[in-house]
Formats: sequence, C-alpha cells, structure tokens
Amino acid sequence: MSVNIPRGTQDILPGQSEKWQYIESIAKDVCRRYHYKEIRTPIFEHTELFKRSVGDTTDIVQKEMYTFEDRGERSLTLRPEGTAAVVRSFVENKMFGMADQPVKLYYTGPMFRYERPQAGRYRQFVQFGVEAIGSEDPAIDAEVIGLVMDIYKMAGLKKLKLVINSLGDAESRTKHREALIRHFEPHIEEFCGDCQMRLKQNPLRILDCKKDRDHELMKTAPSILDYLNEESKAYFEKVTAYLDAVGIQYTIDPKLVRGLDYYNHTAFEVMSEAEGFGAITTLCGGGRYNGLVQQLGGPESPGIGFAFSIERFIAAMEAEKVEWPIDKGLDCFIVALGDAAKDRSVSLVHELRTAGLSAERDYQDRKMKAQLKASDRQHARFTAILGEDELTENRITVKDMAEGSQDQVPLNELANYLKTKMEAN
Ligand code: AMP
Repeated sequence: MSVNIPRGTQDILPGQSEKWQYIESIAKDVCRRYHYKEIRTPIFEHTELFKRSVGDTTDIVQKEMYTFEDRGERSLTLRPEGTAAVVRSFVENKMFGMADQPVKLYYTGPMFRYERPQAGRYRQFVQFGVEAIGSEDPAIDAEVIGLVMDIYKMAGLKKLKLVINSLGDAESRTKHREALIRHFEPHIEEFCGDCQMRLKQNPLRILDCKKDRDHELMKTAPSILDYLNEESKAYFEKVTAYLDAVGIQYTIDPKLVRGLDYYNHTAFEVMSEAEGFGAITTLCGGGRYNGLVQQLGGPESPGIGFAFSIERFIAAMEAEKVEWPIDKGLDCFIVALGDAAKDRSVSLVHELRTAGLSAERDYQDRKMKAQLKASDRQHARFTAILGEDELTENRITVKDMAEGSQDQVPLNELANYLKTKMEAN
C-alpha cells in the first residue's frame, strides 16, 4: 500500500523551493530595514491560547483547529496563526519591560487550519508575519502597512489593492454591535445557522460570512465608520494621513472585518488584482489588537501586525508573470575520466566548495558523453575535464559554457581561476 500526502498539504520540490527562499529573503531584508527582529515560537501551543485570543466564536476555533491530547493529557493545538503565540511569548518573556517599545518582531513558519482545500487554501500553509507591540502611535500602523507593501514591491508585484478600515475602539464597537443586532435580528432566520449564533455572540462576524454574502441585508448593514467616536475617528485619520505622507495608495472599505476576534482600530488587507488569479484574492491580512496582551495576562500594551502566506504570494507572482531572479546555481561540473582522475575529483570538488563555489561531479560511473550532458542539464557555468593526461600534468581543461572558450588551468589554481572569471562577468 502506498501512502499519499495528506489532503490540503503540499511538497515543495526543488525548482519551487527556490521561490520560497527568494520570497523569504526579500521579506527578511525588508524587516531588517524596518528594524524588526525574528522570533521563533513552537509549532504547537496550549489550545486555551487560541480560544482566548483568536476567539471562541471564530471559524478557526470552532471548526478549523488541529487539536490533540498529548500523553500527559494536555490539550494542544497546531498553531492556526502566529499572533497569539507571539503575544504569549511577549507576555511570558516580559518583553513589555524592555527599554525600547514597541517591540518589533517578525516570524515565519507553517500554520494549520482544517479548511476546505482549494486553490490558494491549504491545511498547512506558511505565513510570514510581523507584530509591533507596545505603541499606540498611528505612525506604527502606517509603518506596518508600508512594510508589507514594500515586500510586495521589492518582489515586483504591481497589481495590488490595499483595503483599509477602522473597527474603532471598544466604545465604538459596542454601539456598532447594537446597531448590527437591530439590523439583522428581525430577519435572522433567513441567515445560516452560524450567523444565527453570531448574532448574539459577535454580530460583526456576520459581515464576514461566506454563505450569506449576497443577502440584501448585508448591503444595507450599518457601517462601522458611522459609529466611530471622536477618538477612533481621529486615530483613523492619522493613519491615513501617514499613509498619504509615504505615498501608499489605499481604498477604504467599511465592510472589511477580519476573521479573528482580537482586532480593533486599523484593519487592512492586500488583494491581488492580477488577471487569472484564483477566486481567493486576499494576499495579506492584518490589524490592530489593543486588548490582546492584557487578555493573555500582560499589562496594557497595544499591538498591530499582519500575516501573508507564501503560497498566495507565489501565486500572485505567477499570475503577474513576474520573473524569478533565481540563480540556477551550479558554478562548476567536474568531468573525470579514469579511476585516478575520479579519485582526484573527490578532493577537487571539495576544494571548490570550500572556496565558496558550487561544484558537482559524477557519482554514476558514467562515460564522458553522459557526464558532459549532465553538466549541461545542471546548467553548469564551467565544465572542467580531468583526464589521465591532465592529471599527470597537474592541470585541468576548463570550458566556459557561457563564452564557449577553453583554458588549461593548473589544478591547484582552479578555484581562483573560476572565481576571477566569474567576478569579471
Ligand atoms: P488570516 O490569518 O486568516 O488573517 O490570514 C492571513 C493571510 O494568510 C491571508 O491573507 C492569506 O495570505 C494567508 N492564509 C490564510 N489561510 C490560508 C490558507 N488556508 N492557505 C493559504 N494561505 C492562507
């Protein structure tokens, strides 16, 4: 019996994995410029963490978590998202006491959600995310949004739409919540079972329902922007003014609510507008979570962050047909002929690798023609041929595959010779 890969997961094979590394390297480089540092947290956490932060009424907690009991009868959950764990760690490691606030962090790694798999939606996917915890300066909201837009820009994506909204503070949200209940309650039996439950628990989440998206009452639902108090309004205006100041274009969408409970004030998403991008266009989601640190046992410490998945990032790159500047990556293939040359090629590839070059040799005892073909297939920049004559004369024949030229090089000079030629190009 053969065993297949679990539904909703994928193997990232060579040829694809370079794309992942490329996106991750861009994201990390932008984080460096914005002065965000990496944090690594466990893949699993106590289930309670997600119930308390993501929220009991969310789809994630109710339907999508990979929860299991370990041998010590603790309930653990494979992380469905990154913010909860980062905030837990912030509290546990007393980062709120650090001299420099906000604490600016980024993370990357696999997340797990038991969702219905489709294009762009997996059960295991890799998120890259950023959290800035410890400041309520609207400039940090604009910074975090600017950071993710910079990552996309550096990768070469152009067909993007940034959508922002304010969910307001607690007071604004309470007023809006009451208005939503008044709006939906008389017709709630026309909505799905989930929405009927959401009405009393968290009516804002009705606006996020995939099943009832087209119901007439969705279009006329009270807008949060009409319920923002003066403070929340002023905050939102500052955020947009700072975005204007750094030239970031955005659209305000009062219907944007995020699927997780902990958000308030700024909420945002980045969508792909590339033709041919699948039905799910959201590339990135983020927002402010001012009560979360307290909810998880820390002092008042307001935060904001975002996360995107590498899977959808790559899909957007493919849809926009952006070039991948990926080095095919083999500097030199050593073709060795005869037993003595083959033996010598073992230390020769090692010398090249030690000198920082990527080098390969034959391990299949192939004839010269097959070795030359392998060198070609592997896109070697140089093919170095070591036969018996060369070996006795302590030299090697080096073909520059790009230029079509050929040189005889002393064996102990090979690494330097290749490096000099590569630098000259
Ligand atoms: P969320 O944590 O739900 O706000 O999602 C943030 C981002 O993670 C989304 O904008 C997507 O880029 C990505 N994402 C969420 N769920 C999935 C999934 N099941 N498969 C792939 N990417 C996902």
